[in-house]
Amino acid sequence: MVPLTLATWLSKQHPNGFFVMNIHPKLRSIRDKVEAGQRLNLQDGLLLYDPDVPLNEVGELANLVRERWNGNAAYYNLNTHLNPTNVCVYRCTFCAFRSDLRDPKGYAMTDEQILARGQEAVDHGCTEMHIVGGLHHQKGYDWYLNMVRLLHNAFPRLHLKAWTAVEINWFEFLAKKSVRAVIEDLMAAGVGSLPGGGAEIFHPEVRDRICEHKADASHWLEIHRTAHELGLRTNCTMLYGHIEQPYHRIDHLIRLRELQDETGGFQTFIPLAFHPDNTGLSHVKKPSSLLDLRTMAVSRLMLDNIPHIKAYWIMLGIGTAQTALAYGADDLDGTVRHELIYHDAGATTPEILSVDTIRQLIVEAGRDPVERDTVYRRVVRDESDPIQWQVGEAIADGRANPLRSESSGAKAVGPSSAPVLIP
Ligand code: SF4
Repeated sequence: MVPLTLATWLSKQHPNGFFVMNIHPKLRSIRDKVEAGQRLNLQDGLLLYDPDVPLNEVGELANLVRERWNGNAAYYNLNTHLNPTNVCVYRCTFCAFRSDLRDPKGYAMTDEQILARGQEAVDHGCTEMHIVGGLHHQKGYDWYLNMVRLLHNAFPRLHLKAWTAVEINWFEFLAKKSVRAVIEDLMAAGVGSLPGGGAEIFHPEVRDRICEHKADASHWLEIHRTAHELGLRTNCTMLYGHIEQPYHRIDHLIRLRELQDETGGFQTFIPLAFHPDNTGLSHVKKPSSLLDLRTMAVSRLMLDNIPHIKAYWIMLGIGTAQTALAYGADDLDGTVRHELIYHDAGATTPEILSVDTIRQLIVEAGRDPVERDTVYRRVVRDESDPIQWQVGEAIADGRANPLRSESSGAKAVGPSSAPVLIP
C-alpha cells in the first residue's frame, strides 16, 4: 500500500474543510453542484440511486448539506400519538393498521379516552400530539372537528399536529366544504400544523396500485398549498421500499420541492420505510438499512429548500436512525407514546424512548441534542421539574446561507416569515 504523504493528504482536502476520499467519477458533477449550492435535477437524483455510486460518498455530500442547514444540531421532541380510530373506508395495500367496520379489531375512541390521552401527554411533559387515523364509515365531520376542539380547550399548550391531507380530503366530502373552509374550521378548533402523511408515492404508476381511492398527488399538494397560504406549517413524507422504482422516488421529491419553491411552508421531510407485515404487500421484502440511508441522503440532496430531514426511528429502527444523522438527517422525531400504525405492520422498535435515551443516541452520533417544539423553537425545561417547559427562541437554520438557496432558485421563506400558531 502506498503511504499517504502529507502533500497527498492536503491535496485531498477540500477548500471547504471536509475530507474528500476518491470521489467516484459518476459523482463528480453532482459534487460540484452541491458544493456550489446548485439544484440537482432528475438525472442527478437517479444517479444518486445508482448502486455503482458508493453510499458513503452520497452520504458525505448529504452531510455537507445537512450541516449547512443545521450545523451539528440534532433535534427531538416530546410527543404522543393519537390514532382515534382504525376503522377506514379505504383499503391501501400497504396498510396494516386499518380495520373493517365490523371487524373485532376495529375501534373508535370515546371523548373520555381522548381526553385521558391528552392528560397523559401533559403529565409527561409532551409538547405535541400527533393525530391521524382511519376514515370511519359512520363518524361525521363533527366527530373529527370536535375531538380537536375538546383537546385544545382542555390542553391549550399541547400543539395539535392533526389530520393528513387524505383525512382533510375526506372531510371535504363529509362536510361538502372546500379545502380552504375545512382547514379554516380545523384552525379555529385548535389545529396547529398538519402532519405529512398520505403522500406515499405521488406517481400514478405506483399510487394507482397501492392506494387508488386516496387523494391524488395534485390534490394532496393542493391541500398543503392551501394550508401554507393560511399560515399553517406542514410536514411531508414519502413511503418507499415497496413496489416503486428510484424514478418514482425522485419524481416525488421534485414535486415536493416545486411546492416548497412556491410556498416555503414545509418544515420537515420524513422518508418512511415500508413495513410489509400484515399488509397486502407482505410478499415484498422490507427495505434494507442501506436503502434507508441512501434514501435519507438522496432526500437531503434533492430537497434543497426544506430545512429539516427526519429519521423516524420507529420505522427505521434505532441503529439506522442514529446512523442517518450522518447521512442527511437532523431530527429523530420524538419520544413517541402510543404509536400503533407501524407497530401493526411489524415494526420491532420500542413504543417509546425516554428523553435520556434519545439524547444519548444523538450524543453517541457526535451531534448536539436540541429539544424543539413542533414548529422548531427551542424548548426550555425547568431544571427542578422537567415536566414544566417554556418556548424559547426560533431555531436558526441555514436558510440565510447563500450556498443553499441563491443558485438553486429556492425561495427563502420559513419560520421567521410564517405565522407561528402555537398558543
Ligand atoms: S393508510 Fe390510511 S387511508 Fe389507507 S387504509 Fe390505512 S388508515 Fe385507511
